[in-house]
Amino acid sequence: MKYKLNIKRDVDIAGQWTEQPDYILNLPYGLRFSDDLVHVRGYDSMADLRDSAKRDVITCNCKDCLDGLADETYKLQHSAAEKRGAAETI
Ligand SMILES: [Zn+2]
Repeated sequence: MKYKLNIKRDVDIAGQWTEQPDYILNLPYGLRFSDDLVHVRGYDSMADLRDSAKRDVITCNCKDCLDGLADETYKLQHSAAEKRGAAETI
């Protein structure tokens, strides 16, 4: 799975009104950084973050990711079923 940076969804800027803001990349479930078993990392600049998002992100099968993905799949199926149910009652 290739990671495509989604700034709106995955990036937080901590201390954005200070001189040293921290750009934090929160990887979605199923992905992690290649050099360590971590899913969140802070950067000094948006350029560093973009660079790292391109180079350092790999697929992750750790328990947290599997649980998270299972949960998301469940939620997706559940909401799809709800929509179908709602459509049928109309
Ligand atoms: Zn993981």
